[in-house]
Amino acid sequence: MRYDYLIVGAGLFGSVFAREATDRGKTCLVIEKRKHTGGNIYCEQIEGINVHKYGPHIFHTDLENVWEYVNRFVSFNRFTYCPVANYKGELYNLPFNMNTFNRMWGVVTPEEARQKISEQIKEAGIKEPANLEEQALSLVGRDIYEKLIKGYTEKQWGRDCKDLPAFIIRRLPVRFTYDNNYFNHPHQGIPIGGYNALIDALLDGIEVQLNTDYLAEQSYWDEMADKVIYTGPIDAFFGYQEGYLEYRSLRFETEILDTENFQGCAGMNYTDRETPWTRITEHKHFEYRTQPKTVISKEYSVEWKPGDEPYYPVNDEKNQSLFQRYQMLARKQSKVIFGGRLGEYRYYDMDKVIDSALRMAKRLLWEERMPY
Ligand code: UDP
Repeated sequence: MRYDYLIVGAGLFGSVFAREATDRGKTCLVIEKRKHTGGNIYCEQIEGINVHKYGPHIFHTDLENVWEYVNRFVSFNRFTYCPVANYKGELYNLPFNMNTFNRMWGVVTPEEARQKISEQIKEAGIKEPANLEEQALSLVGRDIYEKLIKGYTEKQWGRDCKDLPAFIIRRLPVRFTYDNNYFNHPHQGIPIGGYNALIDALLDGIEVQLNTDYLAEQSYWDEMADKVIYTGPIDAFFGYQEGYLEYRSLRFETEILDTENFQGCAGMNYTDRETPWTRITEHKHFEYRTQPKTVISKEYSVEWKPGDEPYYPVNDEKNQSLFQRYQMLARKQSKVIFGGRLGEYRYYDMDKVIDSALRMAKRLLWEERMPY
């Protein structure tokens, strides 16, 4: 055994775990299938702009320990995500707040907005929201549901809103103030120098091998270390023996434009059903936007099929119960521990991934010291 830990995957989970283990005197080898580290937070520099290659990532958290942790490695700018919804050329502020309600109904006071929404909830006759459509109707009413939620969500998930779980829409704040900040968390920003700076700092001094497919030569790699932290797809680890876990995948069309400012904000969501993309990200707005040109990415949500890049886990009942079967198999593995978005099949925000990696590190590195 040459290493204490083999870490499969150089994304956030793997990088945080590797840092923690290394700092506690463990030897680690990180192997990564892609040609770069960072997983889906990786950015590519184009025209001097950090382009979020795998979709826009805005760091936000209410976990003080996580905020303190990331600030040990990088500083954050003061970026606040205020995306705009574009419904057939009508523009609405997101998340749903007094600016949205005013534009939709002309209401001015929170009282008037609540009144309008409660009328619409009454009309819909919902008591206990059982799916995303009912949840959306009871949070913001039918007008907002139809213009700003239904089309976007059905494009995003490729499913009818009635067939989606309510929790997806509960991610979004609904506010009765004139506040366009997309997140409720007290801490938010983009790492100064981009996300690669965070990953580079986490992996500083740690051995990393890129372009390396663990599953292609699993027994060879397993020989290398006492324990394996596996952050790839859990079903792939088991050769899909129980079946494929489903995802939504994304496709990006990235263009360099010879203009200084294309859309005036980092994110514009196209919430109608007809526009084929879900949103356009203009990357320079995440940082200092001093570059003469701009880079935009049109984002298309696509049905995932085996071999495609997995992005969003489809957390419906069928997939959840399949995941549980894989979890049972995973528990029987004595040497391999599963973590991260793909290892745990979870719709994970970055801060939660870091928190989970820190907990795992604490648990494993602590357990080792226990005299069993
Ligand atoms: N959503 C919507 N309209 C929007 C933005 C989001 O209906 O303009 C819904 C949609 O169902 C989406 C969910 O809210 O899946 C969560 O959005 P979020 O921005 O949190 O998604 P993510 O950041 O994971 O892409």
